[in-house]
Amino acid sequence: MKADIQIKKVLETRRSSIYKKDRICLYPGCTQNAIGSHVLQRLGILSNITDSTNHFYAIKKINLFEMNEGKHFIVDKVGINDGYKFPGFCSQHDDSIFRLVETHPINLDSPIVQALFSYRTLCLELRNKEIELEIFDAIYKTLKEFRPTQLHYVNTEPIKLGIKDLKFFKSELEREVIRNKASKFIHNKISFDEFKICFSASLTIYDPNNPLTHEEDKYGRAKTTPLASNILNCFPYQGKSHIIVSMHKDYPCHWATGLTKSIASSTDPSKILSDILTYRLEFWGIQPKLYESIPEEKISTFLRESEDYYDDYSFDIKTKFNLFK
Ligand SMILES: [Zn+2]
Repeated sequence: MKADIQIKKVLETRRSSIYKKDRICLYPGCTQNAIGSHVLQRLGILSNITDSTNHFYAIKKINLFEMNEGKHFIVDKVGINDGYKFPGFCSQHDDSIFRLVETHPINLDSPIVQALFSYRTLCLELRNKEIELEIFDAIYKTLKEFRPTQLHYVNTEPIKLGIKDLKFFKSELEREVIRNKASKFIHNKISFDEFKICFSASLTIYDPNNPLTHEEDKYGRAKTTPLASNILNCFPYQGKSHIIVSMHKDYPCHWATGLTKSIASSTDPSKILSDILTYRLEFWGIQPKLYESIPEEKISTFLRESEDYYDDYSFDIKTKFNLFK
């Protein structure tokens, strides 16, 4: 018991130093330290989901150190300056690369603007995965120190493969956003009636009919090519909501193609959005007024559903649940 408390203490110290650690800017070749980059612009985008005190609700996956009793998600009220931030770029690159999505009006129909939204999201996912890997390593190291005679196993392979894929897609997107070369991505933007929610994520969905999403080839060997995935950004802007869906042309994600089509043809996308929020995301934001208008019972069901499906990446998740209806 005493050892358990000590392990917890050491883990907590290590966790906090991982989060506080300086990180290098993600711009290729830059050696400056990253500042806190906002994934989505504060004024004009995030400000659409805040209350009068500049706060919004964030629904997020609890980090590995804090998980207990099968609970994976928490709902937290966060300030506009602190939420949606990650150590991505140095101040100079944060300003210079993202100018088109940080000044008004944002031309959401421009392919370079769509690429920039996707690029920042990809960088967020990459940094999160790097941090997650360090956390896994810290857990392993700590357990080994405290219980040297026991066998410890922490499988970091999926995270390492994820990092490798994200680095590939990042560099492919840099052709477009940094080097002004022809795009290797398909970007789609669909606008619909305003929903006061925001999310930015890159998802890899297992598709039985698309071998590009399979971790092993037909002979059972680990694949060396990246897994097909998508990049999603959804937010309100100037009275409408918009979703930007991107994917690499050589590694298409059919789930995302289907998503684009179904939102474009829907008169009420609430169920489609609810499915993404409930079954696919590890982090998203919602306006307090909207969140508080959802009955408590519905929120409980939402959290339960999110827990039940938290590690489900299958193509079809079919349920009746709709957070907004
Ligand atoms: Zn930099």
